[in-house]
Amino acid sequence: MLSPQKFYFSSAKNYQHILLNQIAKRKYGDLKEKDKVFTNLHGKLGWDFKSAIKRGDWSNTKNIIEKGKKHIIDEIKASGLRGRGGAGFPTGVKWSFMPQNSEKPSYLIINADEGEPGTCKDREIMRNDPQKLLEGCLLAGYAMNCKAAYIYIRGEFQEVRKRVEEAIKQAYEKGKLGKNACNTGYDFDVRIHSGAGAYVCGEETALIESLEGKPGKPRLKPPYPPQHGLWGNPTNVNNVETISSCPEILRRGSSWYNSLGRKNNHGTKIFSISGHVNRQCVIEEEMSIPLKKLIEKHAGGVRGGWENLLAIIPGGSSTSLIPRQQCEEVLMDYDSLSQVKSSFGTGAIIVMDKSTDVVKAIARLSKFYHHESCGQCVPCREGTAYLDKIMHRILDGVAKLEEIDMLLEITQSMKGTTICALAEAAALPIEGLLRHFRDEVEKKIRK
Ligand code: SF4
Repeated sequence: MLSPQKFYFSSAKNYQHILLNQIAKRKYGDLKEKDKVFTNLHGKLGWDFKSAIKRGDWSNTKNIIEKGKKHIIDEIKASGLRGRGGAGFPTGVKWSFMPQNSEKPSYLIINADEGEPGTCKDREIMRNDPQKLLEGCLLAGYAMNCKAAYIYIRGEFQEVRKRVEEAIKQAYEKGKLGKNACNTGYDFDVRIHSGAGAYVCGEETALIESLEGKPGKPRLKPPYPPQHGLWGNPTNVNNVETISSCPEILRRGSSWYNSLGRKNNHGTKIFSISGHVNRQCVIEEEMSIPLKKLIEKHAGGVRGGWENLLAIIPGGSSTSLIPRQQCEEVLMDYDSLSQVKSSFGTGAIIVMDKSTDVVKAIARLSKFYHHESCGQCVPCREGTAYLDKIMHRILDGVAKLEEIDMLLEITQSMKGTTICALAEAAALPIEGLLRHFRDEVEKKIRK
């Protein structure tokens, strides 16, 4: 007979075995209608206040606020929600960095700059479901003791900006924002501000500088925005999709959100799928859905069939591409993509079939990052210029084989040596290219 201790360990092992089997069996990516956060992503229903109320927005908001700031932050932490703007930092933890007893006014900023090539999700939320964002602003703002929220929207989004302005007006008229918001005794304002079209303003401190009326150049950190943000006051910068997901999480409870996706990768996500697929789309799905399934289920598959696939950039232009063999197995979440040396980013999937000149495609991205570098840091200012130059020398047929290793040397010198992540964003696509398609680059040079 087993001793109690041995029995305990053997049962624990059995339990672990059963659990691992369950995890292995669990399939991700069959998001049911009832589990969708964004019920009007495609604009089939009205975007206006009345239609939003019919879909359940602004219901129980007062009750949620009455449960208190700690409850809201704890629920968001427990839900496992991670920032949907690219960095993937746990949202509840980020909120908890804000001082609760500051004598200075605190601010919430919504990053609606959405400049990452391939990404087109936040504009759809603002266009078709703007009340979700505004309700999220109130709840997040209350939890962090903020006086107001500023929505910093990309300058090119003129039509969307007008829509959000109208939605703000409607929310004020219905008493959801402004003095005594939602009848809670809490005063909270929301304002919208247009950017001027610089990619780097998607970086939170550059965005703050721009909002203050200065050139959008990232600040050295520390101090971080919760200590010294907008006009020197405590500030938290959050992405549109992140904040818009919060009201539903708080209404349904963290365990519902947490039950979707794999451990550390919970919830739902809006994916933008572009490039060589049969049907480009913006779609909400469960986190951890296999990449292949996502493309076949929602985008009608790769143009010319899966066998015609060359590579995919899985998370927006700043993430490394992955070749077809890896696309076969990888899951669309933070952990799975980092295992293949890429990243989840904004969930913007760019599909390239075999007709793509992959060297030319990545050279185009180098040109973009060179153009968008703000020039404050030498490794970024010079590095992006050199990457652009060498990539175009390769395309023009004047580069030498040694320049391939020079590219790698430059990308190494750009990582971790600059004020913001733009330098790394310029380096990663080239590293991905050389990791998987070095022979293509060599072929071009030899030719
Ligand atoms: Fe500017 Fe580039 Fe430095 Fe960022 S890394 S602050 S974009 S120079």
